[in-house]
Amino acid sequence: GGEEAMPEWRAIFGAALPHIDVRWWSDPTLPREDVHYALVWEPPPGFLARLVNLKLIVSSGAGVDHLTQDPDLPRHVPIVKMGAPEAAARMAEYVLAAVLFHHRRFHHFVDAQRRRQWARVETTEAANRVVGVMGLGTLGAAAATALRTTGFRVRGWSRNAKTLDGIETFAGRDGFDAFLDGTEILVCLLAATPETEGIVNAATLARLPGGACVVNAARGSHVVLPDLIAALDSGHIAAATLDVFETEPLPADDPAWAHPRILITPHVASTAGRQARGRFVIEAIRAFEAGETLPNQYDPARGY
Ligand code: NDP
Repeated sequence: GGEEAMPEWRAIFGAALPHIDVRWWSDPTLPREDVHYALVWEPPPGFLARLVNLKLIVSSGAGVDHLTQDPDLPRHVPIVKMGAPEAAARMAEYVLAAVLFHHRRFHHFVDAQRRRQWARVETTEAANRVVGVMGLGTLGAAAATALRTTGFRVRGWSRNAKTLDGIETFAGRDGFDAFLDGTEILVCLLAATPETEGIVNAATLARLPGGACVVNAARGSHVVLPDLIAALDSGHIAAATLDVFETEPLPADDPAWAHPRILITPHVASTAGRQARGRFVIEAIRAFEAGETLPNQYDPARGY
């Protein structure tokens, strides 16, 4: 939120961390050398570098690309990524909604309704549907678990091998093809790194069975949109739900807007409220002040 959210932020932090003075970033009277903690989203490049005594950066969302793109980012300051449990629960809701939409072939009904057609279509039970989740971090693990609880056959893919109850897991490049083989609904919740850029491309889509669907709620850079549109037009991919794009807002002339089998949502998949995010930030600052391990810390070596 903007500056109008300041009274709420002050109330949230004032109650838990009374020794901290909460200030709005662009306040002209901000004493920059006294700023120790920064809670930020898309700060102007170079802004954080000017806070010379900064000790901790908290990204108010899970992605940190908005920070790492800043060439002047003070690299010695630890970064905590938003990891509120409520944010994971909200992402799980979104993924569940999108997967159920595809599972029950709602695209077909949206289209049929437009043509006033009573067009039934066969669908199967969740227990017969294979959903593959790419990325099993804070958000991916929560989404995979929610899908599993709903009855889907769930598999997951991550960089390092993982164990998740009731979920078949694959890891690394070596496990990628086996993960894709038979995945009928592909969900992307990967971190955005040079290795994962453009990972949902023509080759990946071709590996999925015919009629597969794609859900991207991670970052626009993960999906090669022209490849996806080509696979939709060829009929190999049945439908897609996209929450994130290379350019946001998605430009009005982008062909994805008009595609009958793409559902577009405007980067809304996981939005936790201020109270929930505030609780997480308080936990992070307390851990920092106690010299404890920081929650959900960004690792520059891994890139996420
Ligand atoms: P995490 O950092 O917790 O998890 C990232 C996952 O990606 C991990 O499982 C990691 O593997 C995996 N991964 C990273 N690199 C590779 C690779 N080369 N090969 C295979 N797997 C890889 O991220 P979050 O769960 O917090 O966030 C996930 C995504 O969601 C991010 O891109 C974030 O920006 C986006 N997001 C979108 C929102 C929205 O509203 N649409 C809101 C919030 C976040 P491993 O477990 O082995 O480390």
